[in-house]
Amino acid sequence: MELKDVLSEIHQEVAPLLGQGKVATYIPALANVDPMQFGMAITLNNGQQFGVGSYQTAFSIQSISKVFTYTLALRAYQDGLYKRVWREPSGNPFNSLVQLEYEAGIPRNPFINAGAIVVCDSLVSHFSSETKAFDKILSFIHECSGDSNITVDEVVAQSEMEHGYRNLALAGLMKSFGNFDNGIIEVLKTYFKHCSIVMNAQQLSRSMLYLANDGTDPISKKQLINSTQAKRINSLLLTCGHYDASGDFAFRVGLPGKSGVGGGIVAVVPGVMAIAVYSPALNESGNSLVGTKALELFTTKTGYSIF
Ligand code: GLU
Repeated sequence: MELKDVLSEIHQEVAPLLGQGKVATYIPALANVDPMQFGMAITLNNGQQFGVGSYQTAFSIQSISKVFTYTLALRAYQDGLYKRVWREPSGNPFNSLVQLEYEAGIPRNPFINAGAIVVCDSLVSHFSSETKAFDKILSFIHECSGDSNITVDEVVAQSEMEHGYRNLALAGLMKSFGNFDNGIIEVLKTYFKHCSIVMNAQQLSRSMLYLANDGTDPISKKQLINSTQAKRINSLLLTCGHYDASGDFAFRVGLPGKSGVGGGIVAVVPGVMAIAVYSPALNESGNSLVGTKALELFTTKTGYSIF
């Protein structure tokens, strides 16, 4: 079956599920999106793109931005980064404080909030200021996606800053353990800004192609990261990309992927393509409910799983 027909079939099959799940409500700016939306997009290695539904509707990428920041930090610090953030699944919710306390302020992985905040701290140090770090993150996303129009939703960023008490607590705890170099507020501002970057499913699928191709973007031919590092990021996406439901996602979908509480999920088919879905209503673990189902249907119908 042609990929565009696969997408249309999935669109029809998930339609009855729309309305299940709940949109993220922990910040008002995210609570106001229409939960009935669904979009899915694919970008192949040769640049060919397919999409259905709301695949060109922009949304808050939230935790998906952690893939870009981790890529930049790994590039800057290489193996030195593992002293500050591990590479084990957490088995805990994305914003949990408990594990961080008994593991002495070293987050389990870069895709839970604590890990991504430490990664952001490392980028603020590396690029020498919060403004420069954010500019580098955004220009890296422009480079990965081949689209320099991508920008940040300042209302969402501000709303996260006003309501992000748990992230403040995570940062404070890591600072107390000595795993934090810069000011908590300046790092959190940068963290919330990169979480509030707005992209659509089509742009997201395009931007992750480097991870499907050993770190080199097959369209621009630029090496964005080396192949060992790309392998490591993909392994972490498989084991840690979906908070405490990462095992379930690997079981059902069988692809490296990353979700965000804005309702997006990206997944990587090594050597072939990257896929992104958008549907803002989330399951209990904070992953897009219909998005996860759509990706499960995709790998079942096409056989494009890594297993
Ligand atoms: N900015 C969000 C937070 O830190 C990210 C949540 C997510 O997508 O996991 O709470």
